[in-house]
Amino acid sequence: MDVATPQFRPARRIANIGVSEILKIGARAAQLKREGRPVIVLGAGEPDFDTPDHVKDAAVAAIRAGQTKYTTLDGTPEMKAAVCGKLQRENGLAYEPAEITVGAGAKQVIHNALMATLDEGDEVVIAAPFWTSYADMVIIAGGVPVPVVGREENGFRLDAADLEAAITPRTRWLMLNSPSNPTGSAYTPADLRPLCDVLLRHPQVWLMSDEIYEHLCYGNFTCTSPVSVEPALRERTLIVNGVSKSYAMTGWRVGYGAGPRALIAAMAVVQSQSTTNPSSISQAAAIEALNGPQELLKERRASFEKRRDLVVQALNAIPGLSCRKPEGAFYAFAGCVGVIGRKTPSGEVLQTDADFCRYLLEEHDVAVVPGSIFGLAPYFRISYATAEAELRTAMTRIARAVEALS
Ligand code: PMP
Repeated sequence: MDVATPQFRPARRIANIGVSEILKIGARAAQLKREGRPVIVLGAGEPDFDTPDHVKDAAVAAIRAGQTKYTTLDGTPEMKAAVCGKLQRENGLAYEPAEITVGAGAKQVIHNALMATLDEGDEVVIAAPFWTSYADMVIIAGGVPVPVVGREENGFRLDAADLEAAITPRTRWLMLNSPSNPTGSAYTPADLRPLCDVLLRHPQVWLMSDEIYEHLCYGNFTCTSPVSVEPALRERTLIVNGVSKSYAMTGWRVGYGAGPRALIAAMAVVQSQSTTNPSSISQAAAIEALNGPQELLKERRASFEKRRDLVVQALNAIPGLSCRKPEGAFYAFAGCVGVIGRKTPSGEVLQTDADFCRYLLEEHDVAVVPGSIFGLAPYFRISYATAEAELRTAMTRIARAVEALS
């Protein structure tokens, strides 16, 4: 007889957290592709463009120059200087290197901040719909996520009165993301002002401003950091940003944060006992991305804007679906209330947005993500960081899928 295998028991802090739903949909799509199905994946939040050549060259040069050792814990001096330069140049914000932290992606920066600040039961208000990882990262850090949903009439933006109502003495952070994943909505200075006023009334609440889609704003829209709108918030704001989305560098894993020294120092403690420094080679590449030529950004932005228009127009032409035109990022967040309760050709009644997304994938070869996992249903998120021709085909398939419902 086999000796009894000791049963695996996960820690309570991860017991209710699964692997990201988006990754699961991606895995199912990949499986269908392996079976020969022509699946179009509009799930992942990743630019389809490649990392610019001059950035790759900087990484190769760093390898050749022997920059292959541990670096300073939370970013090389050169990388921190590049971040300070970027914040001054693009945002008009003056930060010193001691106020900058660099991690393996913006995700690690957020994780460090939460681990460094949350005690068991501390609350974090999250502007919803939100990037699903926010809530799970709060839970892993021992905190309690408090999602506050923005209404579609208000562009899914957080309402100041709702924010005020959600704050308690245990609230430590407000997490705000503009432009937003999953809605693509972005905040103007006028949108931010009332939120800043609420925060000014609650000095125990810090602001995590996730600006990772900053460069992806369309038309005349320019992104503004809340710190520019209300400089008094600088002393309790962590600006989160990175090179993943702007420079098509998701795989390099470099993100950064800017905030008060004491917070940055506490975050360095967390990183020092987990991953140590971000890759030396990736940092060299990120420095070139921040300091080097920026023309490519404009071209890519124009191409994303064209895709946004294509997708939004196509979705709104499908009876039963509707989509607000987002200001930024590369996501469209479409309402699908008009398909709920309808029947698929195989006889299934679509009860939820997840049912609809499963139907699109299993029977029409398009992978999208249900709004429910971002905190708002019935909606679905399309990532349009995909070639135009593919997007057109995907939109035709979605139209046919809806048409086939009775
Ligand atoms: N914030 C938001 C809102 C995101 O969508 C993502 C990536 N999906 C990240 C942060 C993390 O980016 P990275 O870790 O690649 O820098």
